[in-house]
Amino acid sequence: MKITIGVLALQGDVREHSAALEQPDVQVISVRRRTELAQIDALVIPGGESTTISRLLDVFELREPIADRIKAGMPVYGSCAGMIMLANQVLDGHPDQRSLGGIDMVVRRNAFGRQIDSFETMLDMKGVTGSIPAVFIRAPWVESTGPDVEQLAVLESDEPSGDRIVAVRQGSLLATSFHPEITGDRQVHHYFVSMVREAVKEKS
Ligand code: GLN
Repeated sequence: MKITIGVLALQGDVREHSAALEQPDVQVISVRRRTELAQIDALVIPGGESTTISRLLDVFELREPIADRIKAGMPVYGSCAGMIMLANQVLDGHPDQRSLGGIDMVVRRNAFGRQIDSFETMLDMKGVTGSIPAVFIRAPWVESTGPDVEQLAVLESDEPSGDRIVAVRQGSLLATSFHPEITGDRQVHHYFVSMVREAVKEKS
């Protein structure tokens, strides 16, 4: 079955996500308009700047239609700024920024940024085999999750406040603090594509 996955192309690393999603029977399109949103089975919200993405969602009149599709069960994967956009609650956000919501979690924006601006590490993640390279760039972390949220990856920390949740899933919504699209390892994208295939199969 052919599926169409959109990459929200308002700002951020759109091209890298599009390349990482490529596989047989997957059509990848950029989404900037409502007509494009209507064509897709699933959406990726890339990393970038969540304040800018939030502002541009309003400029391009995409906020409501995307929020409606999320409520209707469309699979969405958000990485870094995309994770912030999927959080029901954001800490340390810009006063003007608004997330789309969908995942019952509290996300702290720029949480890793205060200590180390950018780093790469190997990470174990549920749903993928073996360790994956994970790049964190002024990344958020998940401070807490609701009962329906599955924690897929945790970064161990010596800080007294404990380990950091960096990948989560709630139903058909997936979010990572890190950027798998820039590492060449496509396992997270493969995991998302299989989530999309399952969702599409269930619908048909
Ligand atoms: N700090 C950025 C934000 O607030 C996220 C960084 C990223 O996506 N690499 O949106």
